[in-house]
Amino acid sequence: MTHLPYEPTADQRSMLQSLKSFLTSRVAPGAAERDQTGEFPLEITRALGELGVMGAQTPEEYGGSGLDTVTFAMLIEEIAAVDGSLCLTVASHNSLCQGHILVAGTEEQKMRYLPALASGQLLGAWGLTEPGSGSDSGGLQTRAEAQPDGSWLLNGSKNFITQGSVGGTYVVLARTDAARPGRSKTDGISAFVFNRAEVQGFSVGRKEDKLGLRSSDTAQLIFEDLRLPADALLGERGRAFRDVMRVLDGGRIGIGAMGLGLGRAAFEFAARYTSEREQFGRPIAANQAVAFKLADMDVQLEAARLLIRKAAELKDAGADFSLAAARAKLYASEVGVAACDEAIQLLGGYGYIKDYPVERYWRDNRLTRIGEGTSEVQRLVISRQVLSRYAQEPSLA
Ligand SMILES: Cc1cc2nc3c(=O)[nH]c(=O)nc-3n(C[C@H](O)[C@H](O)[C@H](O)COP(=O)(O)OP(=O)(O)OC[C@H]3O[C@@H](n4cnc5c(N)ncnc54)[C@H](O)[C@@H]3O)c2cc1C
Repeated sequence: MTHLPYEPTADQRSMLQSLKSFLTSRVAPGAAERDQTGEFPLEITRALGELGVMGAQTPEEYGGSGLDTVTFAMLIEEIAAVDGSLCLTVASHNSLCQGHILVAGTEEQKMRYLPALASGQLLGAWGLTEPGSGSDSGGLQTRAEAQPDGSWLLNGSKNFITQGSVGGTYVVLARTDAARPGRSKTDGISAFVFNRAEVQGFSVGRKEDKLGLRSSDTAQLIFEDLRLPADALLGERGRAFRDVMRVLDGGRIGIGAMGLGLGRAAFEFAARYTSEREQFGRPIAANQAVAFKLADMDVQLEAARLLIRKAAELKDAGADFSLAAARAKLYASEVGVAACDEAIQLLGGYGYIKDYPVERYWRDNRLTRIGEGTSEVQRLVISRQVLSRYAQEPSLA
């Protein structure tokens, strides 16, 4: 069979097929209830490990599936369309925790940490954000002091960490050195990796009660004289921030795909509903005012998918994908959330109650405009890169 551009390949189709049947049988039935109870679906993440989803992009030699980013984005879109909470779990576990180990880890660290993460046996968390530093992540206050025996002593806290209370492996950022003269304040920041079961001085603080993504785990991490061995340092001492940026660039493709998946689910539900629901003696979709809304949603979601595809292809080609990832994340999260909002409108009063899933899609998707760099931060990244081109050009005058 010929493979049409932008359509999944035969391999991708079969992978998506098995994922979809798992999502339909094991995930969809409990998604609304978990949204109410906030119960973390540990059995589901273990089963996703067996399906190869928990180590989707981790190379096979470390126990992962070694998938490219284009395929990963397709998987994330599918999971989001069924359960946003599970999607955030999978996206952060893969792109942030494993992503950072892959970007900066030594061979020994990769062999030590990745197999348990890729199999879903342990969940991964990534701690950058702090109470006083979110968008301004370089302003973090957690300190790691080098000890005479080569070990490290960490003190501080992290806020809003996905898998914060259910994690097994943590990657955290801390300041080890003062910024060198003339460098930005991001200089002097280092990354550390550790298994929770092997350390002392680590505890979990407040678990957040969230608007959406209620069965994903978001918690505060507290470090009180957390002692880590010398080999917990991940990447070069004091130079972790450039790794952070690479990790976030990759993560943004995943969060974009999540925004798209939730938006698509809302669109599909609204399209079906408006084709069936009758008012004034005909389906409400027979009104052009309604049909045109659906047309706009369709175009925006497709444009988001193409931006995600471009960023993923650039990443897979080893090219600079920072700008493409910021564009994809910004656009997909904005139109994804807008599609959820419009779907509520198209369902009328039924969109506002919990018998229908669109209000959950909206609540879940709202995070994609905030996490891994808010929409405003994406605009900062995009405008800086775009404007720098013109600053280099000779003046028009
Ligand atoms: C459910 C959830 C899961 C998360 N998971 C993780 C995780 O796993 N690991 C992790 O490290 N972090 C995580 N975060 C944190 C998340 O990345 C931050 O919340 C986000 O980066 C924004 O930081 P902030 O909340 O401190 O907001 P602030 O930075 O205080 O921003 C508040 C508002 O000000 C705007 N703003 C700030 N600076 C500027 C500027 N220069 N120009 C224009 N506008 C600006 C922002 O866009 C925003 O609208 C998570 C957050 C949530 C809610």
